[in-house]
Amino acid sequence: MCAWSSLIRHETYRGINLLIPPQCPACHAIIDDDGLCGQCWSQIKRIAPPLCQQCGKRFAFTNAFSDGDNRCGRCLTAPPDFDHAIAAFKYNAMSRLLILGLKYARRHDVTPTMARMMANAGAELLDKSDWIIPLPLHWTRYVQRGFNQSAELARAAMKAANIANRKYRPDILKRMKKTESQGYKTRKQRRQNLQSAFRVTDKSRCLNGASVVIIDDVLTTGASLSSAARCLKKAGAKEVAVLIAARVG
Ligand SMILES: [Zn+2]
Ligand SMILES: [Zn+2]
Repeated sequence: MCAWSSLIRHETYRGINLLIPPQCPACHAIIDDDGLCGQCWSQIKRIAPPLCQQCGKRFAFTNAFSDGDNRCGRCLTAPPDFDHAIAAFKYNAMSRLLILGLKYARRHDVTPTMARMMANAGAELLDKSDWIIPLPLHWTRYVQRGFNQSAELARAAMKAANIANRKYRPDILKRMKKTESQGYKTRKQRRQNLQSAFRVTDKSRCLNGASVVIIDDVLTTGASLSSAARCLKKAGAKEVAVLIAARVG
């Protein structure tokens, strides 16, 4: 299948979405607006503090002995290569449906609402960043899907947060390896699996000393995002943060 046929298919789905009344992707109720119905939206939950200041994981309790380093045990012992992670909402049964709808059923109508939540949660990050980079897909996956959901979310979040288009740089980072699922691997296996998974193509050396935000849909183990951050830092980025729609755990 060529990239053109994927693009045509993608645009046809968009066209069809305009003709038939929109349905909630979770419960299939007819809705007036885009995205989920009101009842399903109420099941999308933000991640309430206290949070690890590096990976964004929620602490089960507030650490009374905190010395100002509010990081979880994992970030203290084996920190990821990104400096900070912010998620718009929790990965639960409902947000899973929302994200699967976008990725596999082309429910692009849910993108603006998800992106608005990302823009709210990460307003400061987006504002102070020099560059905003969607986590790239391997080209074979891109051809298969016809779009990169992280790029769709990044553009919509930037629009919602009123961020200048010039900050959007999907051209800097390339995915070189089609990596397998990371879920059941050990940390060491995940690192090996992702070795040289990404490459920076920064000919103008604009990453030198830059603050970068990587956008992605879901943070599960964080291994891919960490690998991308490592690659950007090697190329000169001073600070790398990640902004994701949903966080597992
Ligand atoms: Zn619904
Ligand atoms: Zn952490």
